[in-house]
Amino acid sequence: MTTTTSPAAYTESLFGLAGRLAVVTGAGRGIGLAIAECLAAAGADIIGAGARMPAGESAVRAAVEAHGRTFTPLQADLSDREQTAALAADLAGRDVDILVNNAGTIRRSPAAEHTDADFDHVVEVNLRAAFVLAREVGRSMVRRGGGKIVNTASMLSFQGGVRVPGYTASKSAIAGLTKALANEWASRGVNVNAVAPGYVATDNTRELREDPARSQEILSRIPAGRWAAPSDIAGAVLFLCSRAADYVHGAVVPVDGGWLAR
Ligand code: NAP
Repeated sequence: MTTTTSPAAYTESLFGLAGRLAVVTGAGRGIGLAIAECLAAAGADIIGAGARMPAGESAVRAAVEAHGRTFTPLQADLSDREQTAALAADLAGRDVDILVNNAGTIRRSPAAEHTDADFDHVVEVNLRAAFVLAREVGRSMVRRGGGKIVNTASMLSFQGGVRVPGYTASKSAIAGLTKALANEWASRGVNVNAVAPGYVATDNTRELREDPARSQEILSRIPAGRWAAPSDIAGAVLFLCSRAADYVHGAVVPVDGGWLAR
C-alpha cells in the first residue's frame, strides 16, 4: 500500500468488482444466492441462472438490487443438453467477466442401488454442464484477455463420501477439470479455480441434517463445531473472483470449518 492510497481505496482495488458482469448458476437459493449477493455487494452486476429462476420477483433479485446492481435472470435446466448449450451460447455473447459454476445436485443411494439415471443426472449437472459453460464463456474471456471462473468442488473432491457415488465422481472430476482449464488459460489472463465447501446448511444437506445420527457424526468431525451458512462460502468465492486472486490458478480452496484438517 502506498502512502497516497486510503485503506478503503486499497481494499477496493483488491476486492472491488465495480463494472464487472458476473454469472452465478444456481443463484436462486442456497450457496448460489449468497454468492450472488456477495458479488453484487462488491459491485458486480449479476446474471443468475437456474432451472427454476423466476423472470420476475425473487429473493436473489431483491438481494442484488438492494446493493444497487442489476439482476438478469436466465432459466436453464442444466440436465438438458440443449438448454445448457443455449445458455452457454447466450452467455458467450455477453462479455461476462466472472463465471461461478455453482449449480449442483445430489442423489443419495448405496452404490449397489445407484442407477444409471441417478449417476448420469448428477454428472450431467455437476460436471458436464460446468465444462460446457466454462468452455464457451472461457473462450470469450481468452479472446478479451481476462476473466475469472470459479467451479464448485466439495469435500468429496478429496474424499469418497457415503452413498453418493455419482456425486463423488462429479466433484472429484470437477477438481481435475479446474486444474486442466487453469493450465491452459493462466497465461491468457483467465483464472480458473474452485471453492470446496464443507457441510453447509442448504437443501442439498437437508436429509443429512434431519437424520440425528448422521448429523451428529458429521458435526463431531467439524473442528468449528457447526454447519456452515451459505454466507460462509461466499467470501472465498469473492476472493477468487477479485484482483486479489490474480496469481491464483488451479486451486481447490476448502471452506470447511477445519473438516479436512482432522
Ligand atoms: P441447493 O440449495 O440444493 O441449491 C442447488 C442450486 O443448483 C439451486 O439453485 C438449483 O436451481 C441449482 N440446480 C440444481 N439442479 C439444476 C439443474 N438441473 N439445472 C439448473 N440448476 C440446477 O444446494 P447448495 O448446497 O446451495 O449447493 C450449491 C453447490 O455447492 C452445488 O454445486 C453443491 O454440490 C455444492 N456443495 C454444497 C455443499 C453443501 O453442504 N450444501 C457442500 C459442498 C458442495 P433451482 O433453484 O432453480 O432448482
